[in-house]
Amino acid sequence: MLRLADRLATVKPSATIAVKQEADKLRDAGVDVIDFGPGEPDFNTPDNIKRAAHQAIDDNLSHYLPTQGLPDLRRAIADSYRKRYDTDYSVAEVIVSCGGKNALYDAAMALFQTGDEVIIPSPYWVSFPEQVRLSGATPVIQTTSERDGFIARAADTAALVTRATRGIILCSPSNPTGAVIPDDELGRFADLALEKGLYLIFDECYEHFLYDGRAHASLGGHARRLRDRLILVSTLSKTYAMTGYRVGYALAARTLIAAMEVVQSHDCTHPTAVAQAAGLEALRGPQESLRRMIDEYRRRRDLIVSELASIPGVTCQKPSGAFYVFPGVTGLCARLGLGDSLGLAGALLREARLATVPGEAFGAPGYLRFSYALSADRIREGMERLKAFVR
Ligand code: PMP
Repeated sequence: MLRLADRLATVKPSATIAVKQEADKLRDAGVDVIDFGPGEPDFNTPDNIKRAAHQAIDDNLSHYLPTQGLPDLRRAIADSYRKRYDTDYSVAEVIVSCGGKNALYDAAMALFQTGDEVIIPSPYWVSFPEQVRLSGATPVIQTTSERDGFIARAADTAALVTRATRGIILCSPSNPTGAVIPDDELGRFADLALEKGLYLIFDECYEHFLYDGRAHASLGGHARRLRDRLILVSTLSKTYAMTGYRVGYALAARTLIAAMEVVQSHDCTHPTAVAQAAGLEALRGPQESLRRMIDEYRRRRDLIVSELASIPGVTCQKPSGAFYVFPGVTGLCARLGLGDSLGLAGALLREARLATVPGEAFGAPGYLRFSYALSADRIREGMERLKAFVR
């Protein structure tokens, strides 16, 4: 008889990947699905990055690298943080992982265990609580409010701290809400972590996706005083439209990076050497493609927000970052007699051929996540389908 490990009983598969697979299945059957599900850019990887990957193959960069990653890539990452946030992380205090997801997983495995509690503000990215569960620890969910723009507040976190609390996982700009935590609030999180002796894991995978002239606020700006308590995690996946290359990274004090390296040395070892060479070009090469992408995302955000806000029963804030909108649909569910957002998402897929991710996946029933990483024409068409469905 098949016997799986107990730990799997508490862990759910990624809901966002499940939506993608469902939409792919319909598409394979010839159905024209408009897919607002994916958490990845619809742009192609810039040519200079692709050329660097080709070159790496031709140069026979095909052997094991140091587990922590290509030294030049780690230097480029440390330099980029030093320039932006005046951090003093050395090359030894950077680890390159198979995407930001792998770095977050390594951090959870290195820091948390059975009996620990880890506070995660909701709506949260789907993998945060599951990775914490895989470590044996218990996720403690902190709610944020739509009225406050879904911003995580340190005072609310403080109210959940117990003797078992070991860490806090923050994400800004947020997937799924696009909320951005302001720098003064990050300062309060830093104070809390120092006062209570907690680890702060800061996921800034959408650090470049900010609109309306906003600058990204990173906990990196507080790194000097938080040093032993902080793990910064980011990725090249979104910034350079290279999700499939699988290059992410973390910066932290040497002792923490060494612990994560032990974990990584027993799972993936490191992202492929070719992908890391491409990643180095991404960071060191021209940045125009990123600026073009951000301009385009801003236009799409404005389009989708105005369309959604015009639908009775839908509340939709204009997010400051990432490439998602997270409208409230409780009113719409009630009007249509569809029960909850899970039911609404299912009906939209079956009847309107629109793929969205229900808020339940992010610990926030009553909402739907729409990614706007698809062309403006497809967004318009999708919104027409949505309005027709509602009518
Ligand atoms: N963090 C957040 C908040 C994300 O949305 C994602 C991707 N969906 C990741 C981390 C991981 O991305 P990757 O592993 O491709 O770097």
